[in-house]
Amino acid sequence: MSIQTNIEQILSRIAAACVRSGRDPAEVRLVAVSKTKPAAMIHEAAAAGQRIFGENYVQEFVDKADRVTDPIEWHFIGSLQSNKVKYLRGKVAMIHSLDRFSLAEEINRQWGILDQKLDVLLEVNLGEEDSKAGTDEAALFQLASRVAGLPHLRVRGLMALPPWLDDPEEVRPYFRRLRELSEEINRRQIPGVDMRELSMGMSHDFEVAVEEGATLVRVGTAIFGERG
Ligand SMILES: *Cc1c(COP(=O)(O)O)cnc(C)c1O
Repeated sequence: MSIQTNIEQILSRIAAACVRSGRDPAEVRLVAVSKTKPAAMIHEAAAAGQRIFGENYVQEFVDKADRVTDPIEWHFIGSLQSNKVKYLRGKVAMIHSLDRFSLAEEINRQWGILDQKLDVLLEVNLGEEDSKAGTDEAALFQLASRVAGLPHLRVRGLMALPPWLDDPEEVRPYFRRLRELSEEINRRQIPGVDMRELSMGMSHDFEVAVEEGATLVRVGTAIFGERG
Protein backbone atom coordinates (compact mmCIF):
# COMPACT_ATOMS: atom_id res chain seq x y z
CA MET A 1 0.00 0.00 0.00
CA SER A 2 1.33 3.43 -0.89
CA ILE A 3 1.75 6.23 1.63
CA GLN A 4 -0.85 8.22 -0.28
CA THR A 5 -3.40 5.39 -0.07
CA ASN A 6 -2.70 4.91 3.63
CA ILE A 7 -3.28 8.60 4.31
CA GLU A 8 -6.50 8.64 2.30
CA GLN A 9 -7.81 5.63 4.20
CA ILE A 10 -6.93 7.09 7.57
CA LEU A 11 -8.62 10.39 6.69
CA SER A 12 -11.77 8.57 5.65
CA ARG A 13 -11.74 6.52 8.86
CA ILE A 14 -11.35 9.76 10.84
CA ALA A 15 -14.28 11.24 8.92
CA ALA A 16 -16.42 8.16 9.64
CA ALA A 17 -15.57 8.34 13.35
CA CYS A 18 -16.62 12.01 13.29
CA VAL A 19 -19.95 11.11 11.70
CA ARG A 20 -20.55 8.40 14.34
CA SER A 21 -19.89 10.87 17.14
CA GLY A 22 -21.57 13.94 15.64
CA ARG A 23 -18.34 15.87 15.12
CA ASP A 24 -17.11 18.02 12.26
CA PRO A 25 -14.14 16.32 10.54
CA ALA A 26 -12.54 19.74 10.14
CA GLU A 27 -11.90 19.70 13.91
CA VAL A 28 -9.49 16.78 13.62
CA ARG A 29 -5.97 17.07 12.24
CA LEU A 30 -3.73 14.16 11.36
CA VAL A 31 -0.17 14.26 12.67
CA ALA A 32 1.98 11.89 10.60
CA VAL A 33 4.52 10.43 13.02
CA SER A 34 7.68 10.07 10.98
CA LYS A 35 10.24 9.01 13.60
CA THR A 36 12.87 6.63 12.21
CA LYS A 37 11.50 7.19 8.68
CA PRO A 38 13.63 8.82 5.97
CA ALA A 39 13.13 12.28 4.50
CA ALA A 40 12.06 10.68 1.20
CA MET A 41 8.99 9.15 2.87
CA ILE A 42 8.12 12.47 4.48
CA HIS A 43 8.34 14.09 1.07
CA GLU A 44 6.05 11.39 -0.35
CA ALA A 45 3.47 12.03 2.36
CA ALA A 46 3.76 15.80 1.87
CA ALA A 47 3.20 15.35 -1.86
CA ALA A 48 0.00 13.46 -0.96
CA GLY A 49 -1.17 16.55 0.92
CA GLN A 50 -0.08 15.71 4.47
CA ARG A 51 0.86 18.90 6.34
CA ILE A 52 1.77 18.06 9.96
CA PHE A 53 4.60 15.71 10.91
CA GLY A 54 5.49 14.53 14.40
CA GLU A 55 9.02 13.65 15.51
CA ASN A 56 10.34 12.15 18.75
CA TYR A 57 14.12 12.41 18.76
CA VAL A 58 15.86 15.78 18.63
CA GLN A 59 18.99 14.75 16.77
CA GLU A 60 17.11 12.73 14.18
CA PHE A 61 14.62 15.55 13.71
CA VAL A 62 17.28 18.21 13.19
CA ASP A 63 19.10 16.11 10.61
CA LYS A 64 15.92 15.35 8.70
CA ALA A 65 14.24 18.74 8.92
CA ASP A 66 17.06 20.27 6.90
CA ARG A 67 16.44 17.78 4.11
CA VAL A 68 12.69 18.27 3.81
CA THR A 69 11.84 21.31 1.74
CA ASP A 70 8.09 20.73 1.42
CA PRO A 71 5.81 23.31 3.06
CA ILE A 72 5.07 21.29 6.19
CA GLU A 73 4.71 21.93 9.91
CA TRP A 74 6.72 19.98 12.50
CA HIS A 75 5.38 18.97 15.90
CA PHE A 76 7.66 17.58 18.58
CA ILE A 77 5.95 14.70 20.41
CA GLY A 78 8.74 12.83 22.20
CA SER A 79 10.26 13.13 25.62
CA LEU A 80 12.47 16.17 25.75
CA GLN A 81 15.51 17.13 27.80
CA SER A 82 15.83 20.82 28.62
CA ASN A 83 19.36 21.06 27.24
CA LYS A 84 18.09 20.02 23.78
CA VAL A 85 15.30 22.58 23.47
CA LYS A 86 17.65 25.00 21.75
CA TYR A 87 17.89 22.68 18.75
CA LEU A 88 14.12 22.89 18.25
CA ARG A 89 13.99 26.68 18.53
CA GLY A 90 12.08 28.16 15.62
CA LYS A 91 11.78 24.78 13.89
CA VAL A 92 8.67 23.32 15.46
CA ALA A 93 5.15 24.71 15.53
CA MET A 94 4.04 22.79 18.60
CA ILE A 95 5.47 20.70 21.42
CA HIS A 96 3.01 18.03 22.63
CA SER A 97 5.14 16.62 25.42
CA LEU A 98 5.49 19.37 28.00
CA ASP A 99 5.37 17.61 31.36
CA ARG A 100 7.30 19.74 33.84
CA PHE A 101 7.79 23.39 34.68
CA SER A 102 11.57 23.40 34.30
CA LEU A 103 11.14 22.33 30.68
CA ALA A 104 8.54 25.07 30.13
CA GLU A 105 10.99 27.66 31.46
CA GLU A 106 13.64 26.57 28.98
CA ILE A 107 11.18 26.61 26.05
CA ASN A 108 10.14 30.09 27.18
CA ARG A 109 13.76 31.20 27.23
CA GLN A 110 14.49 29.83 23.75
CA TRP A 111 11.34 31.21 22.10
CA GLY A 112 12.01 34.47 23.91
CA ILE A 113 15.21 34.78 21.87
CA LEU A 114 13.00 34.71 18.77
CA ASP A 115 10.45 37.00 20.41
CA GLN A 116 7.78 34.48 19.42
CA LYS A 117 5.21 32.33 21.17
CA LEU A 118 5.08 28.56 20.91
CA ASP A 119 1.93 26.42 21.22
CA VAL A 120 2.38 23.68 23.80
CA LEU A 121 0.32 20.79 25.07
CA LEU A 122 0.62 19.40 28.58
CA GLU A 123 1.34 15.68 28.62
CA VAL A 124 -0.63 13.75 31.21
CA ASN A 125 0.33 10.34 32.56
CA LEU A 126 -3.19 8.91 32.73
CA GLY A 127 -2.31 5.34 33.54
CA GLU A 128 0.01 6.50 36.35
CA GLU A 129 2.59 4.27 34.75
CA ASP A 130 6.07 4.68 36.16
CA SER A 131 7.61 4.05 32.78
CA LYS A 132 5.73 6.85 31.05
CA ALA A 133 6.37 10.55 30.80
CA GLY A 134 3.72 13.05 31.71
CA THR A 135 2.57 14.94 34.74
CA ASP A 136 0.18 13.14 37.03
CA GLU A 137 -3.36 14.41 37.26
CA ALA A 138 -2.90 15.90 40.71
CA ALA A 139 -0.13 18.20 39.49
CA LEU A 140 -1.79 19.11 36.19
CA PHE A 141 -3.82 22.12 37.26
CA GLN A 142 -0.90 23.78 38.95
CA LEU A 143 1.36 23.08 35.97
CA ALA A 144 -1.24 24.63 33.63
CA SER A 145 -1.41 27.87 35.59
CA ARG A 146 2.34 28.15 36.06
CA VAL A 147 3.05 27.56 32.37
CA ALA A 148 0.36 30.06 31.41
CA GLY A 149 2.37 32.70 33.23
CA LEU A 150 5.28 32.33 30.80
CA PRO A 151 5.07 34.95 28.05
CA HIS A 152 6.47 32.89 25.17
CA LEU A 153 4.24 29.83 25.59
CA ARG A 154 0.59 29.33 24.72
CA VAL A 155 -1.09 26.43 26.54
CA ARG A 156 -3.33 24.90 23.89
CA GLY A 157 -4.44 21.60 25.33
CA LEU A 158 -3.52 18.17 26.61
CA MET A 159 -1.73 15.14 25.24
CA ALA A 160 -1.64 11.56 26.47
CA LEU A 161 -0.06 8.27 25.58
CA PRO A 162 -2.36 5.78 27.34
CA PRO A 163 -1.34 2.20 28.06
CA TRP A 164 -1.10 0.05 24.96
CA LEU A 165 -4.06 -2.33 25.05
CA ASP A 166 -4.93 -4.80 22.32
CA ASP A 167 -8.57 -3.82 22.23
CA PRO A 168 -8.92 -0.11 21.44
CA GLU A 169 -12.25 -0.10 23.27
CA GLU A 170 -10.30 -0.66 26.47
CA VAL A 171 -8.41 2.56 25.83
CA ARG A 172 -11.63 4.57 25.56
CA PRO A 173 -11.85 5.40 29.31
CA TYR A 174 -8.39 6.97 29.13
CA PHE A 175 -9.32 9.16 26.17
CA ARG A 176 -12.53 10.16 27.91
CA ARG A 177 -10.59 11.01 31.07
CA LEU A 178 -8.24 13.28 29.12
CA ARG A 179 -11.21 15.12 27.63
CA GLU A 180 -12.78 15.51 31.07
CA LEU A 181 -9.54 16.92 32.45
CA SER A 182 -9.37 19.46 29.64
CA GLU A 183 -12.99 20.48 30.28
CA GLU A 184 -12.22 20.81 33.97
CA ILE A 185 -9.26 23.09 33.23
CA ASN A 186 -11.39 25.21 30.90
CA ARG A 187 -14.00 25.56 33.64
CA ARG A 188 -11.35 26.98 35.96
CA GLN A 189 -10.77 29.76 33.42
CA ILE A 190 -7.07 30.06 34.13
CA PRO A 191 -5.82 33.21 32.39
CA GLY A 192 -3.80 32.32 29.31
CA VAL A 193 -4.96 28.70 29.18
CA ASP A 194 -7.10 27.64 26.25
CA MET A 195 -7.77 23.90 26.09
CA ARG A 196 -8.73 23.66 22.45
CA GLU A 197 -6.53 20.71 21.46
CA LEU A 198 -6.63 17.07 22.57
CA SER A 199 -3.69 15.10 21.19
CA MET A 200 -4.62 11.45 21.53
CA GLY A 201 -4.91 8.28 19.47
CA MET A 202 -2.32 6.34 17.48
CA SER A 203 -2.43 3.81 14.64
CA HIS A 204 -4.43 1.14 16.44
CA ASP A 205 -6.83 3.32 18.42
CA PHE A 206 -7.25 6.68 16.67
CA GLU A 207 -10.90 6.10 15.75
CA VAL A 208 -11.88 5.64 19.39
CA ALA A 209 -9.82 8.74 20.25
CA VAL A 210 -11.70 10.75 17.62
CA GLU A 211 -15.03 9.55 19.00
CA GLU A 212 -13.88 10.82 22.40
CA GLY A 213 -12.88 14.25 21.14
CA ALA A 214 -9.33 14.10 19.77
CA THR A 215 -8.34 17.13 17.67
CA LEU A 216 -4.83 15.86 16.85
CA VAL A 217 -4.28 12.17 16.17
CA ARG A 218 -0.69 10.94 15.99
CA VAL A 219 -0.39 8.14 13.47
CA GLY A 220 2.89 6.53 12.42
CA THR A 221 2.78 2.85 11.55
CA ALA A 222 -0.54 3.00 9.67
CA ILE A 223 0.97 5.61 7.32
CA PHE A 224 4.62 4.64 6.96
CA GLY A 225 4.62 0.93 7.91
CA GLU A 226 6.30 -0.82 10.83
CA ARG A 227 9.39 0.74 12.32
CA GLY A 228 12.52 -1.37 12.11
C1 LIG B 1 5.51 6.62 17.87
C2 LIG B 1 4.45 7.48 18.47
C3 LIG B 1 3.18 7.57 17.89
C4 LIG B 1 2.73 6.78 16.67
O1 LIG B 1 2.55 5.44 16.99
P1 LIG B 1 2.00 4.40 15.88
O2 LIG B 1 1.53 3.26 16.69
O3 LIG B 1 3.15 4.07 15.01
O4 LIG B 1 0.91 5.08 15.16
C5 LIG B 1 2.26 8.44 18.48
N1 LIG B 1 2.58 9.18 19.56
C6 LIG B 1 3.78 9.11 20.14
C7 LIG B 1 4.06 9.96 21.33
C8 LIG B 1 4.75 8.26 19.62
O5 LIG B 1 5.95 8.19 20.23
